[in-house]
Amino acid sequence: MCDTFLLVDIDKIKYNLHKLRSLDKDAMFAGVVKANAYGLGAVTICKEIEDEVDYFAVARFDEAYELRNSGIIKPILILGYVCPNDAIKCAKLNIEIPVYDLGLAKQINEILDRKLKVHIALDTGHGRIGFRDYEIDKIKEIKNFENLEVISAFSHFSTADEEDTSYTKLQEKKFTYIIEQTKDTFNYQFTHIANDAGAIKHGITKDMIRSGISLYGIYPSDLLKIEKDIELRQAFSLISTISFVKDVKKGQYISYGRTFRADKAMKVATISIGYADGYPRSFSNKAKVKIAGKEAQILGRVCMDQMMVDVTNINAKIGDRVQIYPDIYQAANSIDTIVYELMTNINMRVPRIYMKDGEIFKKVKYIGEMNEN
Ligand SMILES: *Cc1c(COP(=O)(O)O)cnc(C)c1O
Repeated sequence: MCDTFLLVDIDKIKYNLHKLRSLDKDAMFAGVVKANAYGLGAVTICKEIEDEVDYFAVARFDEAYELRNSGIIKPILILGYVCPNDAIKCAKLNIEIPVYDLGLAKQINEILDRKLKVHIALDTGHGRIGFRDYEIDKIKEIKNFENLEVISAFSHFSTADEEDTSYTKLQEKKFTYIIEQTKDTFNYQFTHIANDAGAIKHGITKDMIRSGISLYGIYPSDLLKIEKDIELRQAFSLISTISFVKDVKKGQYISYGRTFRADKAMKVATISIGYADGYPRSFSNKAKVKIAGKEAQILGRVCMDQMMVDVTNINAKIGDRVQIYPDIYQAANSIDTIVYELMTNINMRVPRIYMKDGEIFKKVKYIGEMNEN
């Protein structure tokens, strides 16, 4: 087996999916699988959960294409920009796109040779893409684009995972207002605004939950993790291997820049993972990994492909497995980022290994020998 891999447990993803769906059994459910399913591998995950979702959502055309090309038939919504040329392909592949600008919508409408399903994007306060609540007339103009078949309208929350609920309430209110003002024009089949946090913390689920990080067992914020309104199971772990163990004398240095100097005799292990695998260099001298159930401190700078840890009090040897993120929330906090970024950073060099019923059933490699056992 490989030195460094990302282990993904499909049963846990399904467990989380069932928990999330049980928030509202009548709501539709979109699995958000952008950025290669937050790094865990979109194609495999979509195939495993396709029967249990209503929609998949991605960020870009290429991601939607990858899913269609691998046989996914459920509706797919792209959440971000699609250029006119890709919109033609979306119409052919039955991929749905957002509309948030009349100029772009006009270009897309003109280039299309058949109808394309679209969702009107509404900016209720997130400030990214979408029409605002004072642009009702503009929104209604979308009606004039005969090749754009408006089936839905959606918005996105910006603070649903925070303590103060007032801004989420304001966003929801604006959303309801815009839908109310435009529903006779478009006869929406359904509308959607809830991300994970909106569904879990605010009980906003209609008509569809767009669930991303929680599906993979990570709470959208520390607050939601503490509140624990829902029980989620982390569905992945990043694992590496000890490649070398040595004794180090007092005064010896470890790694680039000599940022670590042993102040006593130590035992140091080298691990086969680095920032090129997506383990941030900012963890240098900071983070801890876990070996044989014990925490081991990173010593010196994280290199591109390797790093060193303190195993003075650990019975460590070459070939031992290393759990890279014993607490991924704490790791993210320690370098001022969020778990989303740590997950999506995990590089293509890291194979994804999938488990089901406690057994490995699939290995996906993006580079190297593809059919190795
Ligand atoms: C990424 C994204 C989601 C999913 O967000 P999570 O916080 O992972 O639940 C939902 N909707 C939109 C528009 C997104 O961009």
